[in-house]
This record gives sequence, structure tokens and C-alpha cells, in this order.
Amino acid sequence: MLHPLFTPEHEELRATVRSVVESEFAPHALEWEREGHFPDWVFKRLGDLGLLGLRYPPEYGGQGGDWGHSIVLAEEMARCGSGGVGMAVAVQTEMATPPILKFGTEEQRQRYLVPAIKGEKIACLGISEPEAGSDVASIKTTAVRDGDGYVITGTKTFITNGARASLCLLVTRTDRGAGHEGFSLFLVDSDLPGYTVAKELDKLGMRSSDTAELFLDEVRVPDSARLGEEGRGFVEIMWELQGERLIGAAGSVSGASLVFEKTLEYAKERKAFGRPISSFQVNRHKFATMATELEAARQLLYDTALAWERGEYPVKEISMVKLHSGLVVNRVMNECMQIFGGYGYATETGIDRAWRDSRLLRIGGGTDEIMREVISRTMGLGGAQG
Ligand SMILES: Cc1cc2nc3c(=O)[nH]c(=O)nc-3n(C[C@H](O)[C@H](O)[C@H](O)COP(=O)(O)OP(=O)(O)OC[C@H]3O[C@@H](n4cnc5c(N)ncnc54)[C@H](O)[C@@H]3O)c2cc1C
Repeated sequence: MLHPLFTPEHEELRATVRSVVESEFAPHALEWEREGHFPDWVFKRLGDLGLLGLRYPPEYGGQGGDWGHSIVLAEEMARCGSGGVGMAVAVQTEMATPPILKFGTEEQRQRYLVPAIKGEKIACLGISEPEAGSDVASIKTTAVRDGDGYVITGTKTFITNGARASLCLLVTRTDRGAGHEGFSLFLVDSDLPGYTVAKELDKLGMRSSDTAELFLDEVRVPDSARLGEEGRGFVEIMWELQGERLIGAAGSVSGASLVFEKTLEYAKERKAFGRPISSFQVNRHKFATMATELEAARQLLYDTALAWERGEYPVKEISMVKLHSGLVVNRVMNECMQIFGGYGYATETGIDRAWRDSRLLRIGGGTDEIMREVISRTMGLGGAQG
């Protein structure tokens, strides 16, 4: 039975995305993992198919769709077998560009959103810094007013798509003394003087996506580069993080469900002590628990996406989705690795890759602990803003 978030038309989209991902991307997964990079043509191909603008209005080249469409894309990208590809695409579609539509001027939308939807411009999102991750309010990157523009100086780290992006949506401080009202967003072209990719970071999982440290040394931008109102950047980026968390959870729950299916099939075939390993009660119960937990994670995700689609701003529920999905996905990956035994630990089945990729959901875009902080704040218990 289809969840009310979806219609048969969403399922048609699912079939299209699945076919593209399975036939054009998945065959390269291992190669891209080993190279630590997937090629830019993936963005262009998805752009040509209209898949980078599913939720965007047609006047900017989008498909005029809804959260159901975006979730279908995230879920089906998981079939690539290399989590970094889906993550990089999600940064493009659901993290670095939604603020351009919501807070941008018409000129900014034409200049950045339209080519991003076509896959011609690759975008990254610069929030985290070497000394400020969870505590976004402690970022040091500063934009200082200078004539009819700003001069930006600072370092951003862990930036997905950072090595190849032509555009960075950057979070800065414009007024040190103004607390949460002292932040502003900027759209910064990566070819501006003073903007450098300081280094690419090696990492445990999501290996096919590039992750960079960016250095901005007195980068001069015009007034028109500021996105949204000066001083509103903190609230604006907190809004962005909600979509990021929802879509990150969608990709990860889908990835874990695929590994679950693969493990179930394997356990029915693989024999030990003269019988399929799926017949041992301990494994049967593991499968029953995993199926239940995955279904609960999926339903919470879909219900929350539907609430947002219907006009609510469900911050508490999105935080719960991210927290719960991260815990479930990691439990499922661990159990599947255990059931696969040595073949799970070896690289040939891809279980190792999925296991490594899944760990990020509990850290990136707000850690488990920060999700608990946000949830407890909504219960009047205090806690950090994040
Ligand atoms: C592969 C990857 C891709 C990423 N992509 C991007 C990107 O594109 N753009 C971007 O801006 N960032 C990106 N990030 C950064 C990511 O969002 C941060 O790593 C994350 O927010 C955590 O920040 P941190 O690593 O600085 O950890 P810290 O903030 O230093 O936290 C360290 C530990 O302390 C805990 N902690 C912190 N505060 C509290 C508290 N109040 N109560 C309890 N525990 C607390 C945390 O939960 C964590 O366990 C990426 C990270 C990775 C690994």
C-alpha cells in the first residue's frame, strides 16, 4: 500500500530513476570508490533528465514536484552502491540550492539556481569550520562590509563537493556582537581571487564524493552576492538543515533496506552445520527486528515529509527522523555484516562499503547528540540550538 506521500506518478519516477541508476551509475561504483571521486557527468546526466530540479518551479527549469519526488530520488540513488554519489547529488539538490529559491533575488536564481538544476554548475554548502561543527554559532568566517560589497575571510572544512564546486553557499558572521542576529549567507563563485581549495580530505566512507577544506583569504564579493537579509543567516541556515536531515535519512534508510534484502537472500542460501543460516532462530529474530525497525524509520520519515509538504515546519519530527534513522541504519548494517560473515567484511559483496557509508548519518548535518538537544528543547528542557 502506497503511503499518502506518494501517488502512482511518484512510482513512475521511481522506476525511471532506478533504471538510470542501475544501468548507468551502479556499474562504476567500485571504480569511483577506489578513485575517491565520481565524474562530473553524473550531475549533467541527472540535470538533462530533470532530476536535479524535482521540487523546483518550472520557471527555473524544475519539475514543480514535492517532497515525495525528492525522497524517491534519494531512495533510488542508494541503488548506486556508492553512497558518496547520492550524498553529493543531495548536496546539490536539497542542501546548497533550496536557500537560493527561498531567500534569493530573481537575479541570483537565474544566475545560480537555473544552471544548478541543469547540472552545469556544481554547488557546495559551507557551514562547518575546523573549530566549529555542532556549534554553528561559533563559526569565525567573517564578511566585513567594504564599499558596495563585502570582504570574506575564513576556513570551511568537511565540505562535500568542495573540490569541484563552482559555487559555494557560505555561512558567515557579519556582526560579531549581534549574537544569532550576526550571521549572513553569501553565494560565492569559487573562481574569485582568494578562494582556494586548501586540501581534499580522506575519509572512512562516502569515498566517491569529494570532501574539501576551503580557504577564503579576503575574497571580495559585491552586495548582490549576499543571500537573504543581512543578519538573518542563522535562522536561514537552520531552515536549510531541516531539508538536509530529512533527505539524508531517506537515502540512508533506503541503503540499509537494500542491504537487508541482500542479506536475507544470502542467509537463505548460505549453509552452516547442514542448514541455511537463516533457519537459526537467532538470525530469524534478527531479521524480524531489522524489518520492524526499518519499517518504523520509513513511516516516521514519510509522515514527517508529508507534514512538511502540507505546510507544517516539523523541526522536532525531522530531528527524530534523523536520530532514529541513524541508530536503526547503523544497527541494521552491523547485523547484516555479522550475518554475511567474512564475505561481508571482504570487498566483493559491497556490504563493507554500505557499512562504512552508513556511519556518517550519525555525524553529518547534525550529530545524534545535537538531534537530542533539539528534541529536548522542544520539550522545554533547554539544550543547544542546532
Ligand atoms: C563526510 C562528511 C561530509 C560533510 N559535509 C559537509 C558539508 O557539505 N558542509 C558542511 O558545512 N559540513 C559538512 N560536514 C560536517 C558535519 O556537518 C560535521 O562534522 C558535524 O556537524 C559535526 O561537527 P564536528 O565534526 O565539528 O564535531 P564536533 O562539533 O566537534 O562534535 C564532536 C562530538 O561532540 C559532541 N557534541 C558537540 N556538542 C555537544 C553538545 N552540546 N552536547 C553533547 N554532545 C555534543 C558531538 O555530538 C560529537 O559527538 C561533513 C562531515 C563529513 C564527515
